[in-house]
Amino acid sequence: MKCDICGKKIELTFLNKPIGSYMRNSKGKKKIVCSDCQRTHSKEELKTKL
Ligand SMILES: [Zn+2]
Repeated sequence: MKCDICGKKIELTFLNKPIGSYMRNSKGKKKIVCSDCQRTHSKEELKTKL
């Protein structure tokens, strides 16, 4: 699984949960964003990039 913003590989926790979070873009598509991108971008910024 890769971050939809930076393309970096997203690791999974031992519970098989991705370290990152799911977001929906303006078209309602589910996208995954790594924790780094969440830190460096605002929610609004992420939405325009997804
Ligand atoms: Zn990222």
